[in-house]
Amino acid sequence: MTTATRLHDAIAELAGFNDDPAAGGITREVYTPTYAAALDLVATWMGDAGLETRLDAVGNLFGRWAGSDPDAPLVLTGSHVDTTLNAGRYDGVVGVLGAIEAVRLLREAGTAPRRSIEVVAWAGEEPRFGTGCVGSRAAAGRLDRADLDRLRDGDGISMADALRGAGFDPDRLGEARIDAAAIFALVELHIEQGAVLEEGGEPIGVVTAIAAPHDFRVTLHGAATHAGATPMRLRRDALAGAAEAMTALERIVRESPSGTTVGTVGVLRVRPGAINVVPGEVELDVDVRDSDRGARDAVVGAVLAETRAIAARRGLEVEVAPIVEDVPVACDRRVVEAAAAAVEELGLAFRRMTSGAYHDAMVMGSRVPIGMVFVPSAGGISHHPDEYTAPEDVERGVRVLAGTLARLAA
Ligand SMILES: [Zn+2]
Repeated sequence: MTTATRLHDAIAELAGFNDDPAAGGITREVYTPTYAAALDLVATWMGDAGLETRLDAVGNLFGRWAGSDPDAPLVLTGSHVDTTLNAGRYDGVVGVLGAIEAVRLLREAGTAPRRSIEVVAWAGEEPRFGTGCVGSRAAAGRLDRADLDRLRDGDGISMADALRGAGFDPDRLGEARIDAAAIFALVELHIEQGAVLEEGGEPIGVVTAIAAPHDFRVTLHGAATHAGATPMRLRRDALAGAAEAMTALERIVRESPSGTTVGTVGVLRVRPGAINVVPGEVELDVDVRDSDRGARDAVVGAVLAETRAIAARRGLEVEVAPIVEDVPVACDRRVVEAAAAAVEELGLAFRRMTSGAYHDAMVMGSRVPIGMVFVPSAGGISHHPDEYTAPEDVERGVRVLAGTLARLAA
């Protein structure tokens, strides 16, 4: 069987582990029985590829191929197999199954790595508990015991309870922490989740930096008065203020000199939410990202200043609450050059690019040298049932990953 066919079949088989098939996409949230069953199958596939498997204290799954110098810092590669709600079948999965396949290719080619190579399926990359990458955060030492009680999913289940339900002990969180000195480099293969490669006609992206989000909640307080009885001059309409703040955000982001800043209001909560009442309170969940932290901070500062000015003019009060503020990560030069050399050896065109989406590699990048390889996403669609990457594109990504691992582990 060819690499492309075998991976295509494995991706399809894993897609069968789905809590909501009627919706058309994949729903496989971390720490559910469906997720556990899928992870079991991944562990079986790791074993078939000759990897020695183990689960850590938060459910990160590792598969080890011991190198000839087993004490040397190792090369880590992988991604995640959990999904968000009604998602696609490629996000994360390509990086885990692709890594197993890359190991298989290296073995078939008779490669004998000096450094050990470990394949990882990180637990909970998608934000079931509001915060993404909980498995890699635990490994990076960026999650503490109190967070496990604080972080809750949409049904109010804490991460600690979800862990217990899946057979883990939240009090052993600290055991999941990885010693950074034991890792030489980490490389993650992933679908692009954007349309830059497709637009440029390049089959491979070599990532040079990963943008990180600064997310915060702005609440505008006005007055919920009667829509018929309140003349326009006497209104304190929180939603009209929010609309003005949103167009200000769009303008400020577009004018950001870095050229890579993006800003989004993805959630708007309007209260009381009745057609005959002036909106008295509006919450906006704002997401600003850039691989350039200075540019991102400048945009956030300007957006908040402009929002306060708009609110003052309209007689609204403003409250700002933090959600998450992650640190953008530059990819390690050795990993970038190993990936670029692997692409060139295969005679493929590629693009050096930043990752606009965050990944487990970004979280681990605060502790260890990292890099990423992208394959195209059809139409740039992701987190959706229509998410698609052609089997030949997945195979090219796996071959590049194999060449990158061989170089890093030599
Ligand atoms: Zn992902």
